[in-house]
Amino acid sequence: MKAIQMVDLKSQYENIQSEIDSAVLDVIRSSAFINGPEVKAFQEELENYLNVKHVIPCANGTDALQIAMMALDLQPGDEVITASFTYVATAEVIALLQLKPVLVDVHPDTFNIDPLAVEKAITPRTKAIVPVHLFGQCADMEPIMEIARRHHLFVIEDTAQAIGAKYSFSNGSSASAGTIGDIGATSFFPSKNLGCYGDGGALFTNNDDLAAKMRMIANHGQTVRYYHDVVGVNSRLDSIQAAILRVKLRKLNEYSAARNEAARFYDEAFADEAKLNTPERAKNSTHVFHQYTLITDGLDRFAMQEFLSSKGIPAMVYYPVPLHLQKAYTDPRYKEGDFPVTEELCKRVISLPMHTELTNEQLEWIVSCVKEFCKA
Ligand SMILES: *Cc1c(COP(=O)(O)O)cnc(C)c1O
Repeated sequence: MKAIQMVDLKSQYENIQSEIDSAVLDVIRSSAFINGPEVKAFQEELENYLNVKHVIPCANGTDALQIAMMALDLQPGDEVITASFTYVATAEVIALLQLKPVLVDVHPDTFNIDPLAVEKAITPRTKAIVPVHLFGQCADMEPIMEIARRHHLFVIEDTAQAIGAKYSFSNGSSASAGTIGDIGATSFFPSKNLGCYGDGGALFTNNDDLAAKMRMIANHGQTVRYYHDVVGVNSRLDSIQAAILRVKLRKLNEYSAARNEAARFYDEAFADEAKLNTPERAKNSTHVFHQYTLITDGLDRFAMQEFLSSKGIPAMVYYPVPLHLQKAYTDPRYKEGDFPVTEELCKRVISLPMHTELTNEQLEWIVSCVKEFCKA
């Protein structure tokens, strides 16, 4: 059996090697390394895939979030509401721009931001909400958009973990993760569902003005070279990464299906395991399983991680410490106990290997080792 990886990028590459190699070589031969035709083509293909008017490629997902917030003209001290259970980048850029991250709790079954908690956290200084589509399914966007409209707030979706997920509205329509709010921000970090072979990111919007502004900010605040209208950043997706992403975008649906198949395998295997709660599916969203995350009940998950590791199985804890208890984000407003769902999840979650190349043999081995640990 092939060694089990948390994310098996090497096996995935081997299965698409000829397409990737020729795409990369074409860029090298063309020498159009920056802003070449591959970047434009990828942008257009992703616009079509997501059914969104504008995709603005940039250097990584953290930059995407930062550029989104810069484009909204927020002022120091303005409050931005986001989830306490997320990857640090979400709050990092808020703090970096001297805005005030206002954290709220998440839903225990979906791990996603709780719309009721969002509404309660709104003050006269609130300017934006940043829902994070954690682990591969959409936060409950319909009530979030309704709250945002009522309070005149911007919505920036952090779609780094959920590209390709679809959200369904009560009127029967649906939209891709990242295309519902004012702006969507995503990452093409290698281990993301649509990952390149280095760093990459993108912004999505249906708003022409915001699109123009974000393009300008990502390009040193210029639309005409050497004429700088606003303070910007240098944030580009390079052509080699774009060429790789074009190949992988064509496989994204197939990859999401493979992840769902692995998730179903785990679900069935652990259905009657009292010490493990399998991930719930949100009512209004498809799931693209960036992570397959179990909530443990009455077992030592670090001991489980060690046991699995001894059997050649990696497992990870995403995330062990909630944002409000991180040293960098300590704030007199927050203390332990403020976000009970988040805190409980941080104590109990564990994620199993999840990627597009898991074989039945590997899945069976993982499941049997997890069960063995649960019995002990
Ligand atoms: C990965 C990730 C980011 C940041 O993306 P980078 O490309 O690593 O900067 C932001 N938010 C979430 C939820 C992520 O998972």
